[in-house]
Amino acid sequence: MFNKVLIANRGEIALRVLRACKELGIATVAVHSTADNAAMHVRLADESVCIGPPPARDSYLNIPQILAACEISGADAVHPGYGFLSENARFADILDAHNITFIGPTADHIRVMGDKIEAKRTAQKLGIPVVPGSAGAVTDDGEAARIATEIGFPVIIKASAGGGGRGMKVAKTAADLSVALATARSEAGAAFGDDAVYIEKYLEKPRHIEVQVFGDGMGKAIHLGERDCSLQRRHQKVWEEARSPALDDAQRKRIGEICANAMAEMRYRGAGTIEFLYENGEFYFIEMNTRLQVEHPVTEAITGLDLVHEQIRVAAGLGLSVQQSDINFLGHAIECRINAEDPRTFAPSPGQITYYHAPGGLGIRVDSGVYQGYSIPPFYDSLIGKLIVHGRTRNECLMRLRRALDEIVVDGVKTTLPLFQDLVENPDIQAGQYDIHWLEQYLARSAPAA
Ligand code: ADP
Repeated sequence: MFNKVLIANRGEIALRVLRACKELGIATVAVHSTADNAAMHVRLADESVCIGPPPARDSYLNIPQILAACEISGADAVHPGYGFLSENARFADILDAHNITFIGPTADHIRVMGDKIEAKRTAQKLGIPVVPGSAGAVTDDGEAARIATEIGFPVIIKASAGGGGRGMKVAKTAADLSVALATARSEAGAAFGDDAVYIEKYLEKPRHIEVQVFGDGMGKAIHLGERDCSLQRRHQKVWEEARSPALDDAQRKRIGEICANAMAEMRYRGAGTIEFLYENGEFYFIEMNTRLQVEHPVTEAITGLDLVHEQIRVAAGLGLSVQQSDINFLGHAIECRINAEDPRTFAPSPGQITYYHAPGGLGIRVDSGVYQGYSIPPFYDSLIGKLIVHGRTRNECLMRLRRALDEIVVDGVKTTLPLFQDLVENPDIQAGQYDIHWLEQYLARSAPAA
């Protein structure tokens, strides 16, 4: 096992990793920018190292500084959290070259899954169902037209190097195709420095359902069921639940086994998430994230497993603590992402938290780095905490969520909490009937008159 883990992240996820390390008796090193001197992850870590000024590129993304912090502190492993350097293959390679363990998959697996065309090709080879579309990049408009006609309109043009929901264009009919292709290519070139694009069938009312997988890197892999993350705004997840209200046990088992088998075959190491669009009973792979996800706590709630413990075990070469037959799904869990944002306009709302009260009681978990008096810096993303609620049934979970939302108080900044108070009362949400467009349509309907 490791002696000392450096946590190359900030906010709630740095705290999440820190807690797991403490439980395992591993010393922790926090790194932080000058904007995060008073952050909770810095206060709670055994040691901390300042790695630069506020902008992330100068601190949390600054590989030489993070390496120096490893050297100074003598850390023997790095946990990257999510975002920042968590899916940076070069970072994984560099740590490897310095004999520091990257708590995550191999650099090669990060690389393969980071290229969307390569990821799709790999998934298909491993038996994972994918969205019908071009076999690779399309460069020629004639070829594009032929493929689009074959799979049927509407189609979506996506950037191979894309991410964060950027670089996608929908062509409803053949007449839109060449303009959509040209726009997608030039946007991809400008945003990612790579203008390779590919074509897929555009699914009109899918749900976003993702499968949590775990591999030991030696050919054993398990799945921990699915999460439904269909409630999104601008491709950002807002509310996640496990299990999905749309799946039955047979569907869950089928897609879970497909994913676990694929991960075993590729000898995947660590935590991963295989994301699908789901429509009319069919799953369509869209991408794989080779890291811990923001929404991992809903999976922890229904499996009782600590995913960060497992990540650390696997990285240390100890293998998984469980096998598939040990995994039982218990009840239902929902996570609300609390952002310091205006709940109507979603404009960021950094500043000081003047009063803070966290909810408690059975089935409530709050993962957050904030405290009363804490000032949310304006430099990073606006996620300030996650409220995770567990119940024996989805209804019990919703009741408990409503109660927790009544209890929680975050004063001094605007937050997205009022949005969740509305959602929990909504009949479609209560019935579990929503697709990936539901939230945007709901927000458009409920927007205040201009
Ligand atoms: P990114 O890596 O940029 O997040 P994804 O491939 O994960 O891109 O897609 C992001 C979102 O775009 C999906 O969650 C979905 O809302 C939409 N999307 C992607 N592919 C399709 C498709 N074939 N049909 C319909 N919507 C899609």
